[in-house]
Parts: sequence; structure tokens; C-alpha cells
Amino acid sequence: MAEAGGRGTNEEWFARARRVLPGGVDSPVRSFASVGGTPFTVARGEGPYVFDVEGTRYLDLVQSYGAVLLGHAHPVVLEAITRAAASGSTFGMPTPGEVLLAEDICARVPGCERVRLVSSGTEAAMSVLRLARGLTGRDRIVKFDGCYHGHADALLAGGGSGVAMLGLPGSAGVSAAAVADTLVVPYNEVPELDDTVACVIVEPLAANMSLVAPEPGFLEGLRAACDAAGALLVFDEVISGFRLGPGGATERYGVRPDLWCFGKVIGGGLPVGAFGGRAELTDALAPGGPVYQAGTLSGNPLATAAGHAVLSHVDAGDYRRLADRAVRFATALGEAIGASGLSVWTGSVGPLVGLLVGDPGAAPGAPRDLEGVRAWASSEAHRRLFHELLARGVALAPGPYEVLFPGLAHEERHLDAVVQAAGEAAASVVAAWT
Ligand SMILES: *Cc1c(COP(=O)(O)O)cnc(C)c1O
Repeated sequence: MAEAGGRGTNEEWFARARRVLPGGVDSPVRSFASVGGTPFTVARGEGPYVFDVEGTRYLDLVQSYGAVLLGHAHPVVLEAITRAAASGSTFGMPTPGEVLLAEDICARVPGCERVRLVSSGTEAAMSVLRLARGLTGRDRIVKFDGCYHGHADALLAGGGSGVAMLGLPGSAGVSAAAVADTLVVPYNEVPELDDTVACVIVEPLAANMSLVAPEPGFLEGLRAACDAAGALLVFDEVISGFRLGPGGATERYGVRPDLWCFGKVIGGGLPVGAFGGRAELTDALAPGGPVYQAGTLSGNPLATAAGHAVLSHVDAGDYRRLADRAVRFATALGEAIGASGLSVWTGSVGPLVGLLVGDPGAAPGAPRDLEGVRAWASSEAHRRLFHELLARGVALAPGPYEVLFPGLAHEERHLDAVVQAAGEAAASVVAAWT
């Protein structure tokens, strides 16, 4: 669907981008490295749609990897940002906006009493490790293979969506010393802990290796193992927070960690992260405590205004609607793709939708850990389906490890259109399969 644009082509923009941005992108998942071809360059977004510089419209299931909940350019967010900007964009002094957003978070997440606002999920995860180490006087951390916690050195062992997608064992440039205290263990298995472990960090619902739900007993087992070893339990709710429901995975699964990381939705599309927990723990942070942490733009007035606007706008009914639509969408999507003969697994938890496709006739089964997801992701099917869908105006993330993020702007008719397109796209993939 073309729109008057006259702003150059996707090819031209990407060629220019590659001259000044490494790989043409500012974050590797945006490149088409794992699907091939040239990424389109987005000129604007509106609700469930993005439009590229050539005026082509895509039904967008990426939604900035989950940072956008209300849809693009939502009036409530626009108004909040505009109003905040008119009063000055940063001061390096306390502002009401950061108090409002922190109150929003603490009021919704059971057991979370205080948060420190930062500017990304990476910063939140990096800082929460320092806090956990400072509190326990221990160095070791435990993470789960396939969970992603941003790109801090200590957490780039094993790796999550971006790293797994690129097939790297971690990253060049991460020193052996930086990951020497990081243990990487399989998801959905409770590891043995000893008194060297400062914390166990986990995505309570894994959403960076497609969608892998915690099996019954897994989170409870982590809680018990941490308590027995005197280690802290950290939930990375950067995706699940304020998306599964007001209280995120903590509320959904009924297990309370000691510390949390947040990001994505809480910034309303602007750069915000947060980490926090019970007051007796967060009080170890400077200025009151010995654990240093800081940020010039932390608690930025525009970002906190956008986040507060989003969290104030959504209610329990919205979350119910999102989850209902996601269940129906995941089921219909699986049926439409499966009818072509391509093997497929779909699942949903709350509003999050997982989609894995594989060779015709293969059936790797529902994944419970990274190995189970890799069995699907090694197929050519995803890259082919991705391009067939893009040609039909549906944008998935360009990698098999990413979840789909239908949000409040995605109405039944939009999701029905995706299902229709997916059936046709999968039939084309199978017809051309060699
Ligand atoms: C996206 C993500 C992060 C990192 O957040 P950034 O804002 O990209 O730095 C951390 N943890 C999880 C679970 C994420 O999905």
C-alpha cells in the first residue's frame, strides 16, 4: 500500500546507513542477518502499523521488541511527551515524573517496594548484579541458557536472542574474567547452588528464545534453592513486566523474587529501565548505601512521562482482552500455517505469542529450553516464511528466537488478516520447498 513519500528507497537508506552505522543498524537484531535481504527503513508508525520510507505499510508484530504496548504514536503518549518536553527535557535534579513512575511500578508489582530508574534494560540487569553482589559479598551469578538480560559483559555468557541468532558463543570482547563468575544452566531445571552464589537471574517467562513458559515447580524451586543457599533471586521482567498484567510474571506465577529488572513497556517507547526490590535491599544503593550506581539521564522527564501515561492508561480489562486475543490468534496462526504442511508450534502466555516453524514433516515438539528451541530454529522455514509474510504486508522480527507482540492496537480484524496472510505465505513456502 503506497503512500506519497518521496523520501528515497529502502535500498538507498540502508546503503547510507551502512556507511556510517556498523552493519547499517544500531542493534544487531534489526539487521536481516539471519533472514537475508535488506531491512526496510521505517518512516513512521500508527497503531498496529509501520510505514517504510517508500510508503509501504506493514502490520507490525515487533512493536519495538515489546517496548510499545498501546500501538505506535498513541495520542495518550504523544500528549504526555509533548507536555513534558515543553517544560524542559532533562535537569539532573529530582522531578515529579520519576516519583510517579516509581509509584506506578511499586503499586503494581507485589513485593517491590523501591526502584532505581535507569535508561535501558541492560543497565537495569547490569546494576542489579552489582547490587546482589554488594548485598551478599559473593561473586557468582547463575543465568539460564537462552534467557537474555541485555549486553553487559557478565551476562553475555551463553546468550539470548541476538547472540543465539548470530550463532556466537558469547561475544568477542568479553574477557574471560568478566564471565568467570557466571554459570549458565538449562532453563526449566533448578540448579544446585552453594554459598558462592550471589544471585540467580531468570526471565520468569522466557521470551528471548521464542516463548518458553516456566514449568510448574521451576520458579518455586528457584525460590527454595536461593533461600537454602542464601542467594538472591532476581526476576528479569523487562518483557513480562506490565505486559502479562499489572503485576507481570510475579503476580501470574505467585513466586516473589528478591529483586527485579524492568524495561520496555515502562518507558512508553522512550528509554527507561528500572531495578528494585524490598527496601532493605535497595537501601544498599548509593547515596544511602555502599553500592554505587548513577546516570545523567536516569529518570528522564520525557521518558517517565511516557511510561506513566501508558501504565495509567491500561486497566485489567485491557490485559484480559490482550490475553483473549492472543490465545485465539496463536491457535489460528498455528492452524493456518500447519495446513500448508510446514511444521509449526505456536503458544501464548498472556499477550505474548510464540511462533516456531520447521521443515515440512519435522515436528521438534514444544520447547522447554534453548535446546528445544534450537531444534526449530535450525530450519530454513523461518527465513522463508518471514519474507513471504513481509511481501504480504506483515512484519515479524527478523529472527526465529523472537516472540510476537500483538498489543492493544491490534484488533481482531488485524490479527485475522495476519492469519490469512500466514496461511498463504506458508503455502508459498511449501510450494517452493526443495
Ligand atoms: C530487552 C531485554 C533486556 C535488555 O533491555 P535493553 O533495553 O535492550 O537494554 C533485558 N532483559 C530482557 C528480558 C529483555 O527482553
